[in-house]
Amino acid sequence: MIFTEMEQGDYEQLVFCQDKASGLKAIICIHDTTLGPALGGIRFWNYEHEDEAITDVLRLAKGMTYKNAAAGLNLGGGKAVVIGDASKDKSEAFFRSLGRYINNLGGRYIAAEDVGTTVEDMDYIYQETDYVCGVSEAYGSSGNPSPFTALGLFVATQRTAKEAFGSDDLTGKTVSVQGVGNVAYSLCKHLHEAGAKLIVTDINDKAVQRAVDDFGATAVGLDEIYSVEADIFAPCALGGILNDDTIPELKVKAICGSANNQLLDIEKHGKALQDRGIVYAPDYVVNSGGVINVADELEGYNKERATAKVKEVYNQLDKIFTIAKDENISPQHAADHLAESRIKAIQNVKSVYSQTDKNILSGRK
Ligand code: NAD
Repeated sequence: MIFTEMEQGDYEQLVFCQDKASGLKAIICIHDTTLGPALGGIRFWNYEHEDEAITDVLRLAKGMTYKNAAAGLNLGGGKAVVIGDASKDKSEAFFRSLGRYINNLGGRYIAAEDVGTTVEDMDYIYQETDYVCGVSEAYGSSGNPSPFTALGLFVATQRTAKEAFGSDDLTGKTVSVQGVGNVAYSLCKHLHEAGAKLIVTDINDKAVQRAVDDFGATAVGLDEIYSVEADIFAPCALGGILNDDTIPELKVKAICGSANNQLLDIEKHGKALQDRGIVYAPDYVVNSGGVINVADELEGYNKERATAKVKEVYNQLDKIFTIAKDENISPQHAADHLAESRIKAIQNVKSVYSQTDKNILSGRK
């Protein structure tokens, strides 16, 4: 039922890539290219069944359409999944083979890193195609995306504070942070510098200790993080953590964190937060700093320009909170509306014939 599913979700293209010699089995999904080429990472995962891989790539590609559109990028949404064991199936030939499939799409899909893929893998792909970012510094890389995700998250936290408390000044505000890994450590640094107090938890004791030592954070237990008294909760570890069990425990006024898919059920738990008067900053908007930064590579990476673009997350979130209020909908739905209305508006712009479309006047040679 692949065509039915593609039709229902408005997908443009699904590409199956197979290369027996290198062992490559990959699926590239292009969801929507109204705003530009479909940019999205390559996920390397040991899927048990092929249909799981198809379901995943469809879901992830559509997510990228919304993320890129809501971030204000001139990019569509796509994703690739590679079926295999990242610890033993990788090779130069494997990724160069995938690079050739990507190249044959003529720029409709632009690859980047995701779970299970690395800068080295992107460099192999780059040997076969220009349509890849997240390559190493020698090829004009934008570097580690986490500090940029954290910067976007920090300005989003300021805008979220304004929504919840009337001011974006974080001095004296308490932020509870779940998971102090790459993104959240950098976020904690910004928050600490802005005068916020921190409460942290992590399954990794060293990560917790680092936040305690460097930022004077208070450490709490893994389950305690949901019920601590704080102003803002920043989930930066796992998806699905806003659910029937945790939402009643929360003692915060707002949520703004980097983890993907924080709401276990978008409808139900988005509403549960609204009913409790908790401001929820949509995850895919507030964690878009990394993709905004990596996308800058396509214009010849410029750190200053990329940083300025990442700080625009504040204004994107501003628009989303305004739509949510005007239309009396949740911020998550407002983000979807913003993305959909941008795509619709540009679809309309593109309805006018342009000389850059296939030129009917050129004649056939
Ligand atoms: P990371 O692996 O560096 O950090 C995650 C941290 O969470 C780790 O320190 C880990 O020990 C901790 N953790 C795991 N399970 C936990 C649990 N049950 N309770 C408490 N802590 C737990 O990852 P990251 O790159 O910092 O990303 C954090 C989140 O943000 C992820 O969900 C990721 O998908 C999302 N995200 C990251 C980026 C990026 O640029 N890195 C961009 C967008 C979204």
